[in-house]
Amino acid sequence: MASDLLWLLWTLPLAFALGWWLSRFDVRQWRHTERLAPKAYFRGLNHLLNEQQDEAIDAFIEAVQHDADTLELHFALGNLFRRRGDYDRAIRVHQHLLARADLTPSQREHAQHELALDFFRAGLFDRAERALLALEGGRYAEQARSMLLTIYERSRDWHHALQLTRELASDNPTHHAVRAAQYSCEIGDAARAQGQTDAAERAYQEALTLHPQAVRPALALAHMAHARGEHHAALEQLLRLVHAQPQAAALAAVWLAQWAQALPEARAKAVAALQIAQQVAPSVDVTLALAHLQPEQSNTLLDEALTQRPALALARERLHSEPHTPPAVLHAIDQAMGPGQRYRCTRCGFEAQQYFWQCPGCQSWESFPFKRCGEA
Ligand SMILES: [Zn+2]
Repeated sequence: MASDLLWLLWTLPLAFALGWWLSRFDVRQWRHTERLAPKAYFRGLNHLLNEQQDEAIDAFIEAVQHDADTLELHFALGNLFRRRGDYDRAIRVHQHLLARADLTPSQREHAQHELALDFFRAGLFDRAERALLALEGGRYAEQARSMLLTIYERSRDWHHALQLTRELASDNPTHHAVRAAQYSCEIGDAARAQGQTDAAERAYQEALTLHPQAVRPALALAHMAHARGEHHAALEQLLRLVHAQPQAAALAAVWLAQWAQALPEARAKAVAALQIAQQVAPSVDVTLALAHLQPEQSNTLLDEALTQRPALALARERLHSEPHTPPAVLHAIDQAMGPGQRYRCTRCGFEAQQYFWQCPGCQSWESFPFKRCGEA
């Protein structure tokens, strides 16, 4: 009993002394860290100013190891490198962050998002895709899906693009209909280019289901029918399109005129459809198609159109019908017509001789009007 008491008398002050020493140690450690962290910041800043970015990163990493509160500094640093185009360094910073065990789920998600942005800007789309998929269900999910869609478009992965758009469309189907139909048409075009006509037809039909007013699949289905030798069916398809979407007649007119000329019994229907379209959405292409389909009235039609719309393409057609027009005059008009015969993107002004469903300049869908630029 006496020995127990004696033991207690010795150990109590010892425990007290140990506790006091430990608390002193913590304070010292904390002060030491506080001293080390600002030093590392300044060293990092100094390296950064001297453009010694590797050393700067090492210094900032050291700073963040001593003080967890420097997390934001890491994010700022990674962002800085990414903006400068130093993607390797941005990736290193964010990968280092992700490797830390002490991040909260929210901080980890933030780091994952930053890393996905690094990969995306660096053009490392396969790694960006994996990083973005990891953000599913979180607060960055919407941004991640939008970036994923861009990745699928740029890598022409139309099946994944369509699948993702379908998922996005579950809330608002009409909002994504245009894009979904375009993706389906891209799938159709790819199948058609490989001679897989059944798959192509299915894809175009699906595009029409997704977006019943879509012009592209209707045109494609008409061309496919014509290629199969179903000339009447092809013409009917174009006529339905022109009736439903008169503004798209400018794009269909040249085929309508060509196909109807080969089917005399259908010519009157084609003329009627084009005349209606011309009233709703007048265009040079529709005027030219009407002139080709009615050669006996061609000059009158062109003269009338020229008084309303002084387009070079119409003047050229009119001069062609005159037997005494000097070739030099026609050549001069051809030279002058060059830019006037182009389609122009309404978003970025990109001009092209051919019609694009997706602008090669700004990647917008359906941003080219059906009329060529320079038309009233
Ligand atoms: Zn554009």
